[in-house]
Amino acid sequence: MDNELRELYQQVILDHNKSPKNFKKLETANHSAEGYNPLCGDRIDIYLDIQNGIINDVSFQGSGCAISKASASLMTTILKGKTIEEAELLFEKFHALVTGKLEAGYSQNELGKLIVFAGVKDFPARVKCASLAWHTMISALKEDNKLVTTE
Ligand code: ZN
Repeated sequence: MDNELRELYQQVILDHNKSPKNFKKLETANHSAEGYNPLCGDRIDIYLDIQNGIINDVSFQGSGCAISKASASLMTTILKGKTIEEAELLFEKFHALVTGKLEAGYSQNELGKLIVFAGVKDFPARVKCASLAWHTMISALKEDNKLVTTE
């Protein structure tokens, strides 16, 4: 990745950390879960309003490092209107991206804005920060109203 691109990605992450999207408790939520990353101290609550298998609305609350917060924020902007199956598939792709397991030649278009987290794979300690919101969202989908830890 060239430096210019890396800086652009970092700017997107900083912007989402500073002004997170969908940062609120969702009153209409029928699924929710609480995530905790003890390595960094990140806490993220995910709220989902699911109607007929489609994510009608999604929001998050919590506190943590810039990566965990920006990842949650970006995730909420992408999941709205997606089916449960699409959300699960996106989780798998995102996880492959941040752990450096994305197959060569894989279309980056399918990841959309999530590509800004591509640099995380070079920082293993940050992988859990970036994926906390996603793990928590998957747990919320299954309607486990419980605490999720990345351990
Ligand atoms: Zn963190």
